Parts: sequence; structure tokens; C-alpha cells
Amino acid sequence: MTDKVIPIMDLRQKNRTPAIPATLLAPTGLLTDRLMRPLHDLRISVTDRCNFRCVYCMPKELFDKDYQFLPQTDLLSFEEITRMARIFIDHGIEKIRLTGGEPLLRKHVEKLIEMLSRLKTHSGRDLDITLTTNGSLLAKKAQSLKDAGLKRVTVSLDAIDETTFRMMNDVDFPVADVLHGIDVAHAVGLGPIKINMVVKRGMNDQEILPMARQFKGSPAILRFIEYMDVGATNGWKMDEVMPSADIIARISSEFSLQQIDPNYVGETAGRWRYADGSGEIGVISSVTQAFCQDCSRARLSTEGKLFTCLFATGGHDLRALMRAGHSDAEISAAIGQVWHKRTDRYSELRSADTVGLPRSANKVEMSYIGG
Ligand code: SAM
Ligand code: SF4
Ligand code: SF4
Repeated sequence: MTDKVIPIMDLRQKNRTPAIPATLLAPTGLLTDRLMRPLHDLRISVTDRCNFRCVYCMPKELFDKDYQFLPQTDLLSFEEITRMARIFIDHGIEKIRLTGGEPLLRKHVEKLIEMLSRLKTHSGRDLDITLTTNGSLLAKKAQSLKDAGLKRVTVSLDAIDETTFRMMNDVDFPVADVLHGIDVAHAVGLGPIKINMVVKRGMNDQEILPMARQFKGSPAILRFIEYMDVGATNGWKMDEVMPSADIIARISSEFSLQQIDPNYVGETAGRWRYADGSGEIGVISSVTQAFCQDCSRARLSTEGKLFTCLFATGGHDLRALMRAGHSDAEISAAIGQVWHKRTDRYSELRSADTVGLPRSANKVEMSYIGG
């Protein structure tokens, strides 16, 4: 194909190395951006590779055998990731989520978890370390992940129906293996397990009720996620988004639901419980009810770029600072300055003006930066 454009390549090569401020302010554990949003949550992508080709994330036609994933030398080493995590923690990070690509494909990822789990938050508490996975390797790895210090896992599962699931992951992966992974993860104590289902209208929305039935009464918390316009390769269209309100209405046609309070300010999922006491579900309304005003998440890409928004068109190259030999104090001050200037609120702007927003060809891909 001659017209194949992979915008991610441009993005990955885009090099914006943050400046080191002239005065190195020491971190205080409370860093706020221009909209007074603190930095609490760090998502670290440990690989850009994946063994699935979910149609909404890594469409096969683009992520094919010719696609060039990052070479090993470009990836942050575990030592570099841990160093970054420590610096971020000094700015107030309390929770780290490992993601990808498929994080369980990163060799010896347990070793990284072990290194991260030794870190303490600014106030001396244990770090909350979680991981989002497609579940394909979970049965095999759950015990070693738990032993390494992982607290919980989130498993992505877009359908319970075999045909639909295989169509969504596009590599013919069987649903039973993911379900088995969830059971093993639960058995070794990696709970409460959250199950993420991205709903794409016309593709898997008929699976909303079967998924609800499957996990009702189980210890897992099923969360429905609105299909987002992340990246530039999934050909997103607004009419393929199934609004959370419609998802709740559909479940309510069979089960009685009651809305419950969020666990904490800034929680992305709206919480509902079954009136008969048989568990909880969540809806993540990233498109129809943007939650930018409470967004306290930073993302560190596989090769060490800091992204201050899921919809950013470029990152801040922290690896360049590390590999140039800058000190922790210098890198910390540089991160402080980046966050301090942050004004991102893409989803709110999108909600305000769906039609008018430019459909940038350079938005970062979900598989590169992690969800
Ligand atoms: N491979 C792992 C997995 O699938 O769980 C971790 C990385 S994946 C990018 C993280 C999450 O992002 C998954 O739950 C996936 O369903 C979600 N995701 C990917 N593309 C999305 C999109 N366009 N809209 C909403 N969620 C998306
Ligand atoms: Fe892979 Fe996760 Fe993207 Fe699916 S959603 S292609 S499992 S990274
Ligand atoms: Fe956060 Fe950007 Fe998503 Fe808004 S659009 S919630 S700022 S990541």
C-alpha cells in the first residue's frame, strides 16, 4: 500500500526535551497545574507491543508485520523507570498503573514491580501499584505478580460471546482463557479485580447485558468504557460511541440499579450497584461527561516521554534528560515546570465542540501510551 501513513512514528520521533529551570525548587509532594489539578497518578507504559490487535486500538492493517515497534535500546530500563517513579512520587504520586501495549509481554515485568513496590509515597505510605492487562498471560503470571508486590489488576474484556470477542481482539484469542486468568488472579489475591469493557456501538453493544449477567454476583467490578477518539488510527466516529446513560438504561431494563457515591474526588468511573446487593458496576463516560477538571494523571511512555494528556500530540522527553546525566533534582524541577504549565482538557473541549475540534493526525496512540 502506498498511502499507508503511521502517524505514531512522527510522534515518537518528535523531540521536546524539557528545559531545566534556572532555580531548582525542591518537590513538596503537592504539585498543581494551571487549573489547580494535583499530580497523583502515574501510568507507565512498559511496552508498545501487544499480542492482540483490538480493532479500536491496534487495527491489524496498520500494526502489521512491517510495523516497526520500538527497539529494545529505546525502552526505559527498569532502573530508569524506577528512578522516574521515585522522582514523580516526590511530587505527590500515590498510585502507579503499569500498562502498554500488553504489559505482561515485557520480559521480567515482575522484577520491575518488585523494584517499584519498595518505594513509599511522599507521606510514607505503600504505593498503590496496579496493572491493566488483556488477561491473555494472567493465569500464568498472576502468582508471580502478586509475589512481586502487585496489589490489583484490571482486565480488559470486550465481550463474553466467543465470536464477538475473537472479532474484537482480531487474533482469535478465546474468551475462556481470559476468564481463567481472572479466576486465577482472584484466587491469588489480586482483587478486587476490575473488568474493563470498551463499548463500540454496532460492534459489541449487544454484549452489555451478557457481560453484566456474567459478572453480577462475582467479586469483579465490571466497568463500561465509552469508545474514545484516542490516536489517529482507529477511524473513530461519534455515532460509534455508546453513551454511558444508554448503557445504564440497557442494564436497568433487566436489573434494578442504584447510583452510589464516588470512592474519592476525581474517580473516573460513575458507580452503580445492583439493588439486590449482588455487586457493583461502573461507567466511564470519557466522551459524554468529560472529567478533565479532576484529571491528575500523568503518563510515561515506553521510551520515557511524559504526556500530560491522553490526547496529547507530543511528549516531554525525560529519557533524554536522564541519559544526558542530569541529576534527580534537575529532572524533578523540569517535571515540576511541565506540570505547572499544564492546561490540557481535551475531552471537555471535545464535549463543548465535537464538530469543531481538529482531528489531528498526530494524537498519541493508546497502544503506545497505555490507557
Ligand atoms: N493491553 C492492555 C489492555 O488491553 O488492558 C493494556 C493497554 S490498553 C491500551 C488499556 C485500555 O485501553 C484497555 O482497557 C483498552 O480497552 C482501552 N482502550 C484502548 N483503546 C481505546 C479507545 N479507543 N477507547 C476507549 N478505551 C480504549
Ligand atoms: Fe493490545 Fe490492549 Fe490495545 Fe487490545 S487494547 S490491542 S490488548 S494494547
Ligand atoms: Fe485528562 Fe486529557 Fe483525559 Fe481530560 S482529556 S481527562 S485532561 S487525559
